[in-house]
Amino acid sequence: MLSPKHSRAATRHGGSMHPKPYNLFSEHLKQRFGGRVHKISVDAGFSCPNRDGTRNRPGCLFCDPYGSGSAGIESHLSITGQLRAGKEVMLRKYKAQRFLAYFQPFSNTYAPVETLRARYDEALAVDGVVGLAVGTRPDCLPPPVVELLGEYHRRSYFWLELGLQSIHDRTLKWLGRGHDYSTFVAAFQRAKQEGLRVCVHLILGLPGESREQILDSVEEMNRLGVDGVKLHLMHVLKDTELGRLYGAGQVGMLSRDAYIQLVADVVERLAPQILIHRLTGDGPRDRLLAPLWSLKKWEVLNAIEGELRTRQSRQGSRHRG
Ligand code: SF4
Repeated sequence: MLSPKHSRAATRHGGSMHPKPYNLFSEHLKQRFGGRVHKISVDAGFSCPNRDGTRNRPGCLFCDPYGSGSAGIESHLSITGQLRAGKEVMLRKYKAQRFLAYFQPFSNTYAPVETLRARYDEALAVDGVVGLAVGTRPDCLPPPVVELLGEYHRRSYFWLELGLQSIHDRTLKWLGRGHDYSTFVAAFQRAKQEGLRVCVHLILGLPGESREQILDSVEEMNRLGVDGVKLHLMHVLKDTELGRLYGAGQVGMLSRDAYIQLVADVVERLAPQILIHRLTGDGPRDRLLAPLWSLKKWEVLNAIEGELRTRQSRQGSRHRG
């Protein structure tokens, strides 16, 4: 019989101790490093060409002044300071010993190569940091930057996280992304030529996109051979253009049930070897306008797992490859 503590953990992580019906990044890390590895989000002080006026202004529709960063990033600290503070929290909460420095908000390859090198090196020098995850835009990956990332791929454990959101140019234009799909494909191919692991961010539930269009984005990820995906629920933050449109009643949100069905459809079509870094998104509590059901993240994750078990399916069960 499970102890109350283990029973609580089982419920929180999906209601059973059976293997997950999908290929979770966190499990992959556990196997690779022999124990849990936690990501610590870092604001390294970069900007974004879609916010500073180089490409567009004032940025993607959904982006807030924090550059889509997580809650709790202590941007006033140095990179070392942020990682040390994050480690303390992770140690207290999870007794964690190993970490990935996650360069998350804004565009973390948007600087000269030597600046990038200095900031990545600072993170890797922090005790317990076993690798890097670097989030950026497809139009911030010129060849010299990709070559630099290749160095980090060879000397550490490295993931490139590439924001795409949708393969459909009409949607990208509506979102104000400032790049098209072909720009993404070119950047992705440069990254793969350098041997990088690439995780692609997609947003599910974007206004104007049908279920079929969303599934087309997923099939395209299979075709390209991405290494990982991060699935985000479309959510609305304060101080964003999307928030203004939402307030004016011009955009709707997916219901919780619709999201769960949609994610299950996506997971079934995703090639089985692709690592799922995230299945939903929960915006920072104090900055989230909608949908508020997303704040109950563990309930949503449990419901997604439950839906796949009810369907008796799993990741890749409808993959055409
Ligand atoms: S690319 Fe990222 S940081 Fe830049 S405007 Fe879009 S969401 Fe914000």
